[in-house]
Amino acid sequence: MTVDQASSHDYLQIQKDLVTMQEKWMEQINVQLVDKKYPVNAPLLPEVEFQGDIQSYKQCLLETMEYLENQRPALKPQLSIIKEKLTEENCRKWFEAAIMMNEFYFEHFAEESEVEKWLPVFLAESTSRVYIRQAVNQLQEELSKSQVKGCCPACGEPPRLAIVGKNGGKELVCPRCYYSWKQKKISCAYCDNDDHEQIIIMKPEGQEREQIIACDCCKNYTKVIDTRVMLEKLTPEILDLTTIHLDYIAQEEGYVLGEEELTI
Ligand SMILES: [Zn+2]
Ligand SMILES: [Zn+2]
Repeated sequence: MTVDQASSHDYLQIQKDLVTMQEKWMEQINVQLVDKKYPVNAPLLPEVEFQGDIQSYKQCLLETMEYLENQRPALKPQLSIIKEKLTEENCRKWFEAAIMMNEFYFEHFAEESEVEKWLPVFLAESTSRVYIRQAVNQLQEELSKSQVKGCCPACGEPPRLAIVGKNGGKELVCPRCYYSWKQKKISCAYCDNDDHEQIIIMKPEGQEREQIIACDCCKNYTKVIDTRVMLEKLTPEILDLTTIHLDYIAQEEGYVLGEEELTI
């Protein structure tokens, strides 16, 4: 997703609707995982083995496509091409590629199918999130032992968002998998640097509940939102999208999100 897409009102509404659909699927789908031992020094999700048939995932994909077709009738021809290609085997490949964040697979699929590049990955990712979140719910105990730093211990995404909750404590929260974990108040979520001289705190004018914590050591940043004063309870991915102005500010100042060369 690009910053431009996320800033559009329509795009935000689509994401909100998808969250509602995901919440419904969360109630309906029962994810089963193969019992196994997980490493403590790597994100868990790539190691997870999902059990069960792929039909429920296919059903979620079809519902997402139907929704998108209603919202964007112009996408219909492309969605039809994708629908035709959604064999059981391809559904399995999509699921695996979405879990592993294998964007290359989806780019290749889009190219081969002559559909827009963003479309397959968008469909696969927004539906697989339900499975990812259910897996994370089931793996809370394993995750509490994780020693992973610099990315989400559950799914490996950059730690882009932190929330200040009820008791004033700060927790990083992953908009993709919803896993949350503790973080020292003034420190870098990527490189763990807590040298106050290298940690830059930016507060946008007139936005008391929002700040950016940027690190001059690794040049990454995290958005911090105080949710105690918020009337509407937003899910982490919607909170991430509605604070896109903070990403603009941080990126204008030369900071980045999830620098590739960082080690875990
Ligand atoms: Zn995550
Ligand atoms: Zn840092």
